[in-house]
Amino acid sequence: MGHSTDFRSAARQAADLIADYLDGLPDRPVWTPMSAEAREALLELPLPEQGTGLDALLGEVAAKVLPHPMGNGHPRFFGWVNAAPAPAGVLGAFAATAVNPSSAGGDHADVHLERSVVRWLAELVGFPHPAGGGLLTSGASMATIVALGAARNRAAAGLGVDVREAGLSALPPLVGYVSAETHSCVRKAAELLGLGSRHLRTVATDAAGHLDPVALRLEIAEDLAAGRVPFLVAASAGTVNTGAVDDLDALADVCAEFGLWLHVDGAYGAFGRLDPASAHRYAGLERADSLALDPHKWLGVPVDCGCVLVRDAEQLRGTFSLVPPYLRDDAAGGLGWFSEYGIEQTRPFRSLKVWATIAASGREGIVRDVSRCCALARTLGELVTAADDLELLAPVETSIVAFRYRPAGLDEETLHRVNALLPVAVQERGEAFVTGTVLGGREAVRACLLNAATTEQDLRVLLDEVREAGAALVKGA
Ligand SMILES: *Cc1c(COP(=O)(O)O)cnc(C)c1O
Repeated sequence: MGHSTDFRSAARQAADLIADYLDGLPDRPVWTPMSAEAREALLELPLPEQGTGLDALLGEVAAKVLPHPMGNGHPRFFGWVNAAPAPAGVLGAFAATAVNPSSAGGDHADVHLERSVVRWLAELVGFPHPAGGGLLTSGASMATIVALGAARNRAAAGLGVDVREAGLSALPPLVGYVSAETHSCVRKAAELLGLGSRHLRTVATDAAGHLDPVALRLEIAEDLAAGRVPFLVAASAGTVNTGAVDDLDALADVCAEFGLWLHVDGAYGAFGRLDPASAHRYAGLERADSLALDPHKWLGVPVDCGCVLVRDAEQLRGTFSLVPPYLRDDAAGGLGWFSEYGIEQTRPFRSLKVWATIAASGREGIVRDVSRCCALARTLGELVTAADDLELLAPVETSIVAFRYRPAGLDEETLHRVNALLPVAVQERGEAFVTGTVLGGREAVRACLLNAATTEQDLRVLLDEVREAGAALVKGA
């Protein structure tokens, strides 16, 4: 075959290529470091002078891209919070790019579909959903910027300041409350919104990493007494380190008492509420003012797809709309355009891959998969607890397991050094992929379970790999 510019035949070839790629993943190393050569082949690509056929492009993808994945399609990938893509979502993404609308607003399918999938996401996690109360974003970082922007503007309005017009200099410092386990995207959003990270208080946590409502109340009282303006509590529904879910009911009580905006970061963990054995931890989630979640994590929607949900849709529209109220378009039930509720103007057709992913599984299938991940995590926690040479470092609340390698007879300093090097040592062996973190000053290995194709045998392989890589490090130490 010569050069082909025939889309139909290239698309058929692409489907086979991708299906073979996905089928072959479990039989390959989870991840392998790239050779200098392979890296260079991508880094030093010359700008092509002449164009090439679609089939040649497929050949390039097969040769240079598909052999070097991140690893997150593999059932023994336990790193960070990166899921395997849902096949239905892959097809949804493909079709969406062919339709290629801007989902800013208007009267086309993508816009109306986004209304439904945002409502579905709210229904899945049990969050109230007024019309217009949310939109899809690039991820939870963007969802957090949108939510905190609305929180900031509501607080300013409470002080009689229109911050959009007057700017931050018209405001006294607004104080927000986080914990040491809060994801960095909250701090990034606060900095970007001009709130100043020095006005974010790091409230104490209990031993399991939950933001302490009693300590929170004391900090708020102190700030009030000093004439500062508390406005925000950012809670976690699944921390990235250990999967801990804050006591959302207790935090909602504090926020109600002091009139603060309760934001919940559910980027990783919100869908954990679907596991019947974990659901009780999420009581109070529905009382938050805003919730950030990430369909591109536990649901397996292909990247990118985050979502912000709010209790009061007008808070978003009032923060981001540049359409004066007298010009607002009532075609979509008076809701206007998505671009009035967030930052992006031209917006991708994310809702098709969300729709496809959720519709292919149904609520039942999602509950089954999420519950399986949580059950596997509990099993992994039990295997770690039962082992003499491993130590569980945090209770398993959702689907993240934090532990360390601790063979008898090593001092803390050696344990620290070995465990710091352990995640990469495991990764390089290619059989399993974990990442590390630091918990209470101790180096930890962290396994995040998001893939329902993972088996108990995979968990045993992971622990064997940790032991073997750990023993080699001890020998070399
Ligand atoms: C991933 C994650 C984020 C950031 O979300 P992005 O989609 O990467 O922008 C925030 N919080 C938690 C708990 C996360 O796991």
